[in-house]
Amino acid sequence: MVEPSKPVDFIREIITEDIKNNKYESRVHTRFPPEPNGYLHIGHAKSICLNFGIANEFKGLCNLRFDDTNPIKEEIEYVESIKEDVRWLGFDWEDRLFYASDYFEQMYRYAAQLIKMGKAYVCDLSADEIREYRGTLYKPGKDSPYRNRSVEENLDLFERLRKGEFPDGSRTLRAKIDMSSGNINMRDPVMYRILHSEHHRTGNKWCIYPMYDYAHCISDSIEGITHSICTLEFEDHRPLYDWFLDQLNVFHPQQIEFARLNLSYTVLSKRRLIQLVQEGHVRGWDDPRMPTISGLRRRGYAPGAIRNFCERIGVAKRDSLVDIELLEYYIREDLNKRAPRVMAVLRPLKVVIINYPENQVEELEAINNPEDPGMGTRKVPFSRVIYIEHDDFREDPPKQFFRLAPGREVRLRYAYYITCVGIVKDEKTGEVVELHCTYDPKTRGGDSPDRRKVKATLHWVSAPHSIEAEVRLYAHLFTKPIPGEESGDFKTDLNPKSLEILKSCCVEPCLADAKPGDRYQFERQGYFCVDPDSIDKKPVFNRTVTLKDTWAKIEKSLK
Ligand code: ATP
Ligand code: MG
Repeated sequence: MVEPSKPVDFIREIITEDIKNNKYESRVHTRFPPEPNGYLHIGHAKSICLNFGIANEFKGLCNLRFDDTNPIKEEIEYVESIKEDVRWLGFDWEDRLFYASDYFEQMYRYAAQLIKMGKAYVCDLSADEIREYRGTLYKPGKDSPYRNRSVEENLDLFERLRKGEFPDGSRTLRAKIDMSSGNINMRDPVMYRILHSEHHRTGNKWCIYPMYDYAHCISDSIEGITHSICTLEFEDHRPLYDWFLDQLNVFHPQQIEFARLNLSYTVLSKRRLIQLVQEGHVRGWDDPRMPTISGLRRRGYAPGAIRNFCERIGVAKRDSLVDIELLEYYIREDLNKRAPRVMAVLRPLKVVIINYPENQVEELEAINNPEDPGMGTRKVPFSRVIYIEHDDFREDPPKQFFRLAPGREVRLRYAYYITCVGIVKDEKTGEVVELHCTYDPKTRGGDSPDRRKVKATLHWVSAPHSIEAEVRLYAHLFTKPIPGEESGDFKTDLNPKSLEILKSCCVEPCLADAKPGDRYQFERQGYFCVDPDSIDKKPVFNRTVTLKDTWAKIEKSLK
């Protein structure tokens, strides 16, 4: 039997080699360690797929661990949203949900141990002074005047730090390494700072909090993580990760760095995403224009499609920019196969079929998805008054316009051939508000017995049977591939036209039962997903992605 092809990358190669060499008793144990200071985004999805995916492939385990060491920016709301998003993406941490804050006591004991070993000291320099003493890439740092405090004095001070005897910012605990190291991270990095601030889990138990570099390696070690996979910016922190674990002589996972995901026309940093939410540039974390997992979910992206995308982009050691079109490609590919196709008119133009009997209604058969005959067919009502797309008619058609125009015949999908015989205009504005057409009864179902050719097939809905709906069309949130690249401020490149709301669209009656989260293809218009705003009101559809066929190009060339 041929093994299904597995993704191969440098991380999986390292792990395969480690297993072969019986490193970590051939165990594979990864973790996904979000800081609960915002919602997860598509970049995190890459990390989730990587960590959980590797655990699955190598029959290992993956923990979900909240890296909750900063009480000021972290909130329960974020913890809950992160759990929901990881689950929705299709991954399961089983009984392995952890919090770095659960290890505060152990971290404190390890810190005291480092003090006793003469490897850590309490420093009274202010944050500004520490920065000043640290030096630069080209200039070595200077020793802190507090560097040579005795072990006894350090232990006593550290205990009093914990008891809350000193104000915020007055002292820190620092590792005693090397102020002239070529790696600035090794110049006596801060391990603890004083923060009299309530923590969402430990309440007021602590007023000193560990820094990321110290907390992370200890948490990995306590959990028995074998491969601690993180993004490239931590490469220079790896010597420090190793230093703490070596000094303490505890279980030592290996840190491996990979390039983070960057997507064109998108920002992927929680700091920036928070600004978009708080300053009202979007309607919330789950705004369908946001690259957050919750935004993509609301937009209609399916978890499997996101996983396929993450697998396809793979992992590399060098930063790069992924074209957002690639993500959209995977979204389309997935929806093409499973979204039922229906007809919806976004900008309705009334058409009266003057030779069609009043009060007659026919039920015409329509195919739910030509890609999957198993999805069956449905009945679509047809009557004397229908709506077609305003854009599908031109009174004075340009050369390449093949759709409806005065005197011209087109096909109505699943219905009949119709010919435009009259136009009704608004007296004041001159705008076309209604068309009069005739239909050919011999073309029922959309086929002509004499094989008469028509150049266009239009979608439509029967006016008396249609349901009114709101449709929200989205464009990229930013107008530039790398927002802020030129101006230095990503917000200057916000797209003022990223959301267009169409309030009086007409959709097929079968959509009366559509529930939030249901996905459809609106023929010729794209893929759409029912928004949670729809509950108890008129249905609201978010456009997930356009169809992106030649149709879209023709449309463009006509403008
Ligand atoms: P942000 O830059 O958005 O603030 P972060 O790194 O501060 O992200 P964390 O909550 O610390 O966010 O991230 C959890 C995990 O997700 C980390 O292992 C981090 O490396 C990874 N991660 C974050 N952003 C990306 C990205 N764009 N691509 C891949 N992995 C990412
Ligand atoms: Mg981080």
